[in-house]
Amino acid sequence: MKKALITGVTGQDGAYLSKFLLGKGYHVIGMIRRSASSDVIGERLRWLGILGDVELVDGDLLDLASLVRLMSTHKPDEVYNLAAQSFVATSWHQPILTGNVTGMGAVNMLEALRLTHPEGRFYQASSSEMFGKIQAEKQAETTPFYPRSPYAAAKLYAHWMTVNYRESFGLHASSGILFNHESPLRGVEFVTRHITDGVAQIKLGLAHELKLGNVNATRDWGHAGDYVKAMWLMLQQDVPDDYVIATGRTVSVQEFANLAFAHVGLKAADYVKIDAARLRPAEVDVLLGDASKAERKLGWKAEVQLEQLAAEMVDADIARYQRKAQ
Ligand code: NDP
Ligand code: GDP
Repeated sequence: MKKALITGVTGQDGAYLSKFLLGKGYHVIGMIRRSASSDVIGERLRWLGILGDVELVDGDLLDLASLVRLMSTHKPDEVYNLAAQSFVATSWHQPILTGNVTGMGAVNMLEALRLTHPEGRFYQASSSEMFGKIQAEKQAETTPFYPRSPYAAAKLYAHWMTVNYRESFGLHASSGILFNHESPLRGVEFVTRHITDGVAQIKLGLAHELKLGNVNATRDWGHAGDYVKAMWLMLQQDVPDDYVIATGRTVSVQEFANLAFAHVGLKAADYVKIDAARLRPAEVDVLLGDASKAERKLGWKAEVQLEQLAAEMVDADIARYQRKAQ
């Protein structure tokens, strides 16, 4: 039985990846950090019905010793480094923490692997945010980066360290440059989930407006369930490499809101209010990925359409509020 160690297992992608790997017959080990709110730690895994199937172990990206211990105890065949301070807006308030966790944390993982178990394969969760102020209309692996937030700068450091560990030490280390991907398990602070949660509340009469920031920004949004498969495919290749994972379609925040409201028969224009406090110090105006390398080499292609994704998220949020009310 193959063993996979996932950091960030309590997050959106950690949950979907766990489910995917369990389905492939893996023994899944999920690293969690201690929290006083331990009753909600496994919420996403529980939602997918797999909380009891993942072996949860203690560790923290900031604590190299814990990573060395995990790596040498479990000797995982595959390591997926998904943990991060992952919210761009927060990264301006906590740039040092973001640098430490999102940037240096990845190096801690690479060091732990190199020192104790260099034959393990490594996946780094890189981000389209690294393209930031875009240098090409469609962003591919060869497009120059231009990070526009402390989060993006930290991810860029982690990305290049992954490439360097591959080239310097021969680690089987791959970096997935994933464009935004969403699901009913997306954190509610991200714009798609903020919108679908708001639509659900408005539909059920629990709220009367939805505050948004820059509705003109566009993103290439896919479904997290599709994207975790690409992570796994990267680690099944003989040769490690970097891959852009995207749908190839970019849609504005406003258009996503229109879709979500329309799904329940409402009009976004009747409820959306622009709130200047939600604007960012620097914006990533457009992201649009070119995933043709992933299609060619991994046989990967995004499957879920945005309309389907928005509908799934709105329905799940309505069901959540209805359950709460019972
Ligand atoms: P989430 O924010 O949902 O999950 C982040 C995870 O990191 C959580 O499990 C969190 O644990 C964990 N974590 C945070 N700090 C630490 C730490 N110091 N030590 C150990 N674990 C920690 O992110 P997603 O699932 O959406 O994304 C997964 C990865 O992919 C992230 O690295 C993200 O930056 C990256 N990414 C995501 C994209 C997306 O659109 N979703 C796009 C491109 C890249 P806890 O629950 O305890 O807070
Ligand atoms: P990001 O691409 O990782 O920053 O993902 P987000 O979902 O946080 O933001 C996507 C885009 O939506 C960014 O351009 C934001 O400025 C924009 N946006 C507009 N209104 C909001 C809002 O209320 N919340 C968030 N999170 N983003 C918003």
